Amino acid sequence: MELVKLFQYNTLGALMAGLYGGTLTIQELLEHGDLGIGTLDSIDGELIVLDGKAYQAKGSGDEPEVVEVAPDVKVPYAAVLFHMAEVVFRQRFEMTSEELEKRIESYYDGENLFRSIKIMGEFAHMHVRMIPKSSSNIKFSEVATHQPEYKRDNIKGTIVGIWTPEMFHGVSVAGYHLHFISEDLTFGGHVIDYIIKEGQVEVGPVDQLDQRFPVQDRQFLFAKFNIDEVKEDIHKSE
Ligand SMILES: [Zn+2]
Repeated sequence: MELVKLFQYNTLGALMAGLYGGTLTIQELLEHGDLGIGTLDSIDGELIVLDGKAYQAKGSGDEPEVVEVAPDVKVPYAAVLFHMAEVVFRQRFEMTSEELEKRIESYYDGENLFRSIKIMGEFAHMHVRMIPKSSSNIKFSEVATHQPEYKRDNIKGTIVGIWTPEMFHGVSVAGYHLHFISEDLTFGGHVIDYIIKEGQVEVGPVDQLDQRFPVQDRQFLFAKFNIDEVKEDIHKSE
């Protein structure tokens, strides 16, 4: 049996502590997975990895912007894997994100393993946000309080992301961390909530965690983390 390895570059905790500088290129990241999430250098928007391509969703004005990311762009935080659909089901009727998440979880064997999530469908409603580009002297919890949010009705697209067990809260966010990108690649972001009309849901296994660190980044090496504060910030902002 082939093992699925979740490649995680850096931790959400490091982001929360203000380490926004990118240290791993998109090219290197994509060697480790074809599906995933993350953010870009200077936390400039949301990273969406779908079918082996990396996209950036960023927002400032009335409309969000989605662009394909060049291979030399660097990321401070990302989680990717080679998604393997293990549980596949058709969602045939309208459901809220809360209801669909419960349905997805009903297929889990326990709550102690990471999972990959891919939902391709038509959404009656999609509500996303984007982390705005920031410099390291502004705290993440501060940045997170003014993130632009965008809504769309009747939109086709794909949700990608990771479900994380409670035990790893801090390394990433416990529960769902999902990003959306529209079929026409013009709308996307960090998923807040949605209503699915119909679609296909895929849940994939994760057998191993490959946790990488920015080992040459002096800022990371000597950063002092207040773990309680970090966990609190993740709760508030993710
Ligand atoms: Zn996100």
